[in-house]
Amino acid sequence: MNDCIFCKIIKGEIPSSKVYENEKLIAFNDISPKAPTHILIVPKEHIESSACLSGREDISGAVFNAVAHLAKELNLENGFRVVTNCGRDGRQSVPHLHFHLLAGKELSEDM
Ligand code: AMP
Ligand code: ZN
Repeated sequence: MNDCIFCKIIKGEIPSSKVYENEKLIAFNDISPKAPTHILIVPKEHIESSACLSGREDISGAVFNAVAHLAKELNLENGFRVVTNCGRDGRQSVPHLHFHLLAGKELSEDM
């Protein structure tokens, strides 16, 4: 998608603080972190949201493989939270599927 900010990051047209990449996805630090560790895991394919993931176990599998990889690499042994916001009520602000990986402090009980 031409005007999608995450597609531009994936193409290298906008800089990002990349922490991991493979053929299916990229992971970079959130520009406005809500926790000491706040990484966005973003499939390279422009998929709008988790509402479009039916039958896409290749994507969901790759995302959670990356979560496990990052949790090990970043020593997140105290735990972490993975969140994906979907649509208006889910307060999704970037319409390109992404998963927030939050860690590094005891997170709020509120989801
Ligand atoms: P969401 O509200 O779930 O759609 O999350 C979008 C996230 O993208 C927010 O946490 C933003 O801080 C983050 N974000 C927006 N633009 C950038 C950017 N250029 N680089 C890194 N993170 C970004
Ligand atoms: Zn996109």
